[in-house]
Amino acid sequence: MAADCIFCKIVAGEIPADVVAESEHTLAFRDINPKAPVHVLVVPKVHARDAADLAQAEPAIAAELLAQTRVIAAQEGYEDYNLVFNTGANAGQTVFHAHAHVLAGVDVSKLFLA
Ligand code: 5GP
Ligand code: ZN
Repeated sequence: MAADCIFCKIVAGEIPADVVAESEHTLAFRDINPKAPVHVLVVPKVHARDAADLAQAEPAIAAELLAQTRVIAAQEGYEDYNLVFNTGANAGQTVFHAHAHVLAGVDVSKLFLA
């Protein structure tokens, strides 16, 4: 657990969150400021500063996290969804504990990739 990390505190149960799924090494909860009909964050229980660091340090957990995104989208009623990993402050990362944004119900790719 990293000091002053909000997602470590959510994993530890010290800060409440609307948890939608849990696996051995991951926790998924609704984003507090949703940008889509489904907006869930999937985090590793272990602290890593971003997704690439997680993949380097704990590749099996990174794979488990990716696999969980489909489980969560399906649970929310969606087969198709977008994944966003903001990586670094200049790319919009504000919480430096690795997390996938699972977005469904609106095709966010049209906003910036099409
Ligand atoms: P980032 O900008 O780092 O990619 O994403 C961080 C996300 O975490 C933001 O979408 C923000 O709304 C969400 N967030 C920040 N603090 C909390 C919190 O305490 N609880 C929950 N559920 N989401 C949070
Ligand atoms: Zn953390």
